[in-house]
Amino acid sequence: MKKFTAKNLKETRAIAKKFAGILKPGDIAGFSGQLGAGKTTFIKEIAGNFGLAPREITSASFIIMKTHKAAIPICHVDLYRLNLKQVPDEVYERIFANEGLVLIEWSDKISLPRDHFKVTMKILSLDSRR
Ligand code: ADP
Ligand code: MG
Repeated sequence: MKKFTAKNLKETRAIAKKFAGILKPGDIAGFSGQLGAGKTTFIKEIAGNFGLAPREITSASFIIMKTHKAAIPICHVDLYRLNLKQVPDEVYERIFANEGLVLIEWSDKISLPRDHFKVTMKILSLDSRR
């Protein structure tokens, strides 16, 4: 496990960019941490690294899964409003499809394939995160 502390948004973005550099098609990353921890922010930076405009990644309050065309397909899943029983089959299909990247917010709500990245974000203060 690697631990990083970001003093501000810029540092979080730099960490996300570095992380993006190791991601390959078929990779899955699950994000956890309280509301406002920076999960969406982190995913925007990853998406940007694959040529997608960061604004395309939204804090999905209603849409729970969206696949974007970028250098490789990027599937953004946000399970915030769901409980386990409500997770649509399409989400699992996408997770197990092994194509593109699958980036999942509130991933603790489901079980992921054994081989995945796990990013846990914690608010330390207004501008800093672990
Ligand atoms: P989540 O998806 O985890 O709910 P968001 O990425 O939507 O979180 O929101 C994080 C908020 O915290 C944003 O408004 C962002 O500007 C702010 N913020 C302040 N400092 C940081 C930091 N160091 N890293 C990430 N976000 C930060
Ligand atoms: Mg979010």
